[in-house]
Amino acid sequence: MQNNKEWQAAYSVIDQLEHADFEAVIVGGAVRDAILGRPAHDVDVATNAMPEEVKSVFNHTVDIGIQHGTVLVIVPAGSVEVTTYRTDGEYNDHRRPEDVRFVRSLKEDLQRRDFTMNAIAMRRDGSYVDYYGGRQDIEAGIIRAVGDAQVRFAEDALRMLRAVRFSAQLGFDIESKTLNAMQDKAADISWIAKERIKAELDKLWVGKDVFNGINILKESGLATYLNGDFQANHWCDFNVQDKLLGWAYFAVLQGDHWREVLGNYRLSNKEMAFVKAVLGALKALKNGWTNMDYFMYTQQELEAACYFAELRQLDVQMPQQSIQEIQKKLPIRHKQELVVNGSDLLKWSGKKGGPWVKEALQAMLEAVVNGELVNERQQIKNWIEHDYFKKE
Ligand code: ATP
Ligand code: MG
Repeated sequence: MQNNKEWQAAYSVIDQLEHADFEAVIVGGAVRDAILGRPAHDVDVATNAMPEEVKSVFNHTVDIGIQHGTVLVIVPAGSVEVTTYRTDGEYNDHRRPEDVRFVRSLKEDLQRRDFTMNAIAMRRDGSYVDYYGGRQDIEAGIIRAVGDAQVRFAEDALRMLRAVRFSAQLGFDIESKTLNAMQDKAADISWIAKERIKAELDKLWVGKDVFNGINILKESGLATYLNGDFQANHWCDFNVQDKLLGWAYFAVLQGDHWREVLGNYRLSNKEMAFVKAVLGALKALKNGWTNMDYFMYTQQELEAACYFAELRQLDVQMPQQSIQEIQKKLPIRHKQELVVNGSDLLKWSGKKGGPWVKEALQAMLEAVVNGELVNERQQIKNWIEHDYFKKE
């Protein structure tokens, strides 16, 4: 784990800071995940060097959050976020401190961190600095606030949702005082920006124990203040790798209100389009999919619909072959493969353009996809002249 590129880059940054007589450690998620044997994405470094001092040690740095003490250091092995030890000032908006104060003590820096498991530092020699019993809590599978949980959640309400998300990611329980404080402060979650809430739910959906996360979301009372219906029993067996599947399944559980509910979480247009497609595919599955369904929806959308139908134990007509195989056998896979276009239709019919062109193209597409019409110019011309226009 610690041999990967991210860790090597962090080690090389620490070496250089130590060489310049500063103190530097690895902190936060990377240390927690290393103890858990989970791969880490970012390996963050904290140091007693002031931001300007950090910049003077390295040739290549980028100011990414210098007002909060964070400098991105670029070394041959990669880039590392280096943050000066700091304490947070007053919190007035339930989210961000008014100001931060840089300090020289690691202990003070660790104290501002949210949970004991996230407040462990690791030195270059592999030894831990663990003032709050983080390793013991990791061992016991417990999420515990650093210090007085009530105060910590009053300062920053997002921490409560982070606790929920970690409970889904790690399958951990919430320590009782921490949970009580969540119950007391749950309403404060309304202060948090929708985008931040979405970012936490994005991570919750792909957790290994979503059921645990949703249970805690309910138990803490946080679910009351979030949009939509969260029912733990629907999430028992839910396990996915892609956050989009989480949003799509969440949408399935909202019934007719899905659009309104998801609108509150600021999904991108692309994300909404995926959700809409999965819901469409799921609806169509009731009577079994036609060639046109296999044509319109992507493999991923169809697989999602099957998965949800299984989870919800819906009475549907599941495909009897692999979706990929069925899709491969379709006469065409894309609209552009049709050998006839709108101007052909205008030329052949001698008619003026109008909505009919789009309708005729659609009918033609369906006939080709369903295997009723061969995708060949002369045959399509005959079909248009003899079948399609005759029907009108
Ligand atoms: P992830 O694996 O999702 O990145 P993480 O614990 O690394 O989890 P980050 O958001 O990357 O989370 O934050 C890095 C560290 O900063 C945390 O481990 C924690 O020590 C601290 N931290 C982050 N957000 C907060 C917060 N809202 N309040 C207090 N400390 C925080
Ligand atoms: Mg992180």
